[in-house]
This record gives sequence, structure tokens and C-alpha cells, in this order.
Amino acid sequence: MKIKSAEFVVSNSEVAKCPKNDLPEYAFIGRSNVGKSSLINMLTDRKSLAKTSGRPGKTQLINHFIINDNWYLVDLPGYGYARVSKTSKKKFQKFITNYFEKRQQLISAFVLVDIRHKPQPIDLEFMQYLGENSIPFGIIFTKADKLKPIAIERHVKDYCDKLLKWWEELPPYFVTSSSKGIGQDEVLDFIEATNNEIEELKNRK
Ligand code: GDP
Repeated sequence: MKIKSAEFVVSNSEVAKCPKNDLPEYAFIGRSNVGKSSLINMLTDRKSLAKTSGRPGKTQLINHFIINDNWYLVDLPGYGYARVSKTSKKKFQKFITNYFEKRQQLISAFVLVDIRHKPQPIDLEFMQYLGENSIPFGIIFTKADKLKPIAIERHVKDYCDKLLKWWEELPPYFVTSSSKGIGQDEVLDFIEATNNEIEELKNRK
């Protein structure tokens, strides 16, 4: 997919206020500092698109961007801050589960994980939550430039082995590096193919 346009649309604190039309939507989520903003900028060929909503409080907002006038890229808050109270953790969880369970337009989530680290409980639990709620998702490994190819292969295999303990099938996954521009085509082509499938299904009805 070629990116012809990418624009910030709106930030929301509630899923009910998100854009009302039925364009397909893809949500990006992961631990804070995983490289989400950098990935969004890399995918969209923009230097600071993800930062345009970067005002205080952005961490608690659902940020919609419209791409090529035909799909939404959604930047969700990063999870896993070490120093937040239990009450704000609960509030955050509710906010996120509301989005995933209520947003009809959501086609797929992408869970971002730093390729350098072993599978972390917080990410695995989140994927389990998505799986249990039948919310389609893919995994995006970030910061691949930090590892040699052989280590990338090993880390990806470790992750897949862990997931296959729960599930028979692996979700689609992508190895990316925002600083080296790796994985852009793969992620965008996956989104394009999925959008085409949705169109075909619509036309058949
Ligand atoms: P976010 O908090 O998930 O939005 O993460 P950011 O995109 O702000 O990135 C967090 C840190 O990781 C920053 O210091 C980035 O420069 C760095 N970073 C992000 N993506 C990459 C990458 O692909 N390669 C490397 N080496 N560093 C990255």
C-alpha cells in the first residue's frame, strides 16, 4: 500500500465519541516506550504524525488518524507504567476493554512488543484477553535493528513457542524497525489485503 495521505482526526476519552462512519479501523497498542509513535510515523511516512496528538494526557486517549481517506489508524495509550496506583490501573483497564469490546469498526489490533525482550506477562495476558474475546490481532516486533538476524530469529521463535502453548494457530506477526524502515511494506500490505477482503465481502452482499 502506498501512503497518499495521513492526517490526525481526533482524540477521545470515550469510545462512544469516536468517529461514527464505518471505515475499517486498526489499533496499535503496547507497553509505553515500545516504539509505537516511531512505528506509526514510519508506517505513514510522516516524521511526527503520532506526536501531533502528543499533548499532556495523550496517554489516556484514543487517537484516530485517517489514512488514504479509507481506513483509520488508531493510536491507543501505552500500558504497563510501573508507578501508577491500583485505582488508575483499573480505570485504564476499563477504558481499554471498553474500546476493544464496543468498537464495531475495529478490524484488527496490533500488539507491539520489543523484540529484545523475552515474552512479558503483561503482553501475554493482553493477547490472551484479545483471544478470549475473539478480537483479531497481530504482533508487531519493534526495534529489530538492535539485534543480529540470528538473534531476531531466536527471539521470534521463543515468542511463537510460548503462544503455541495456548493456541493452535499463531497470529500474523511482523518484524519491524522504525529507524531502519524495516517491515513497513509487510504491515501495510497486510492492512491493504484485509481491507480488500472486507470490500469484497461487502460487494457480495
Ligand atoms: P512509544 O512510547 O511506544 O510511543 O515509543 P517511542 O516511539 O516514543 O520510542 C521509544 C524509544 O525507543 C525512543 O527513544 C525511540 O527513539 C526508540 N525507538 C523507537 N523505535 C525504534 C527502532 O525501531 N529502533 C531503535 N533502535 N530505537 C527505536
